[in-house]
Amino acid sequence: MKIRLFILICFSIAFSSGQAQIKHVILVSIDGFHPDMYLDKGWPTPNLQQLMKKGTYANYMLSVFPAYTHPAHAAMETGSFPARSGIAYNQPVNSRGEWFWYYKSIKAPTIWQALKDRGMTTAAIMWPNVVDGPITYNLGEIWDEDHPDDRATPVRKHAIPKGIYEEIEQNATGKLDSTNMNDNYFSLDENAGRMAAYIFKTKKPAFMALHFATVDGEEHEFGRDADSVRLAVEANDRAIGDVMEAIKQSGLKDSTAVIIVGDHGFSTIHQVMRPNMLIRNVPATFIAAGGSAFLYRFANTKKTDEAGIVRAVTDSLNKLPADKRKLFRIISRKELDEMGADSAALLALTAVPGTVFSGAVGKAKATNYGPGTRIQNDPLEGVLIPATGGHHGYDPNIADMHTGFIAYGAGINKGGHIKEMRVVDIAPLIAKLLGIEFNTPDGKLVEGIIK
Ligand SMILES: [Zn+2]
Repeated sequence: MKIRLFILICFSIAFSSGQAQIKHVILVSIDGFHPDMYLDKGWPTPNLQQLMKKGTYANYMLSVFPAYTHPAHAAMETGSFPARSGIAYNQPVNSRGEWFWYYKSIKAPTIWQALKDRGMTTAAIMWPNVVDGPITYNLGEIWDEDHPDDRATPVRKHAIPKGIYEEIEQNATGKLDSTNMNDNYFSLDENAGRMAAYIFKTKKPAFMALHFATVDGEEHEFGRDADSVRLAVEANDRAIGDVMEAIKQSGLKDSTAVIIVGDHGFSTIHQVMRPNMLIRNVPATFIAAGGSAFLYRFANTKKTDEAGIVRAVTDSLNKLPADKRKLFRIISRKELDEMGADSAALLALTAVPGTVFSGAVGKAKATNYGPGTRIQNDPLEGVLIPATGGHHGYDPNIADMHTGFIAYGAGINKGGHIKEMRVVDIAPLIAKLLGIEFNTPDGKLVEGIIK
């Protein structure tokens, strides 16, 4: 009789608290992912379309401002906008080539530390902003400035714990090097998927984050909807299929939730605008972030000079002929605060889709915006220069910047559909699924995803 009662109590606990069964969350980020890649059946994404049907999806997810890789991923890890995460761009404002690769750059509490504090196992595969961070199995994204395509050598060097990279090579992928872990080839993401599948099956982390890079690379080079973008997405979809199989093979299907996200959308571009050409007599400079540009005063100026600088810059911009002035919107400091953008910028510009900014002045034969961001300028000097390819970084509310969100598996609504999600809302979702407290300054738990 007592045993029967005990069993009954156990059953009622198991059924009443559905979340107690969720032991694992896998977060997959497709860099440059846009919602039509699953909403439009013409895209080669059968795995994503399956997950969307059997889980919950959003019409779109909003990035941060600027809609950039490192700030958006930091927002997912912290539930904070760039002003509070400390990751305002891909690179520090005074960068000499380095990017925000290291975890120590994040200034807000992270989901990683929160899970570690509770003794939970975590894993990061090619994920931005996490190198040397508090992650059990850490294969964070990093490259050497002199060899930006090589995504094997520096990752191996920083891998935690020691020997994990070699263990993966021996048991899952075969030898990994600068050719098959190279951001010019889809094998980079395919191998990252195999790494993740192996880590999940053998280490069973409570939380694993996986980042795919090549869709973004193809979009930068050829534009938002290019054929090579479809090939890259197809490779990512297959890699997600590998991860889904690993979940089944590990016997953890009933306790694992999978979240597929992107960091920003993409706009196909046809010209570069160089706003610093217009403010050469003002002691300030625009730092370009693709579809946006942020104004900073020179270090030798004073805080009290700021109002004058803003006025002078605004006047110069407003003097442009109407056909050029209509290419961008000026975003005031007040509005930047509301958007949670870098608090040191005096104002910002956000361009219309198709136009991007460059901080360069004078003659520029080719401008290097960093790995994965190749824009060939023609040698003509001028404020507007023709360009091809694609970019991001615009106001996240612009439709082109919308990114994607799909959740599936344990604890997730079947056949669910929400209108809007934000990258800052990802950390609260992970925390809720794993049953931990994690207070975020900007993110909130979105209704309609969890059962
Ligand atoms: Zn990105």
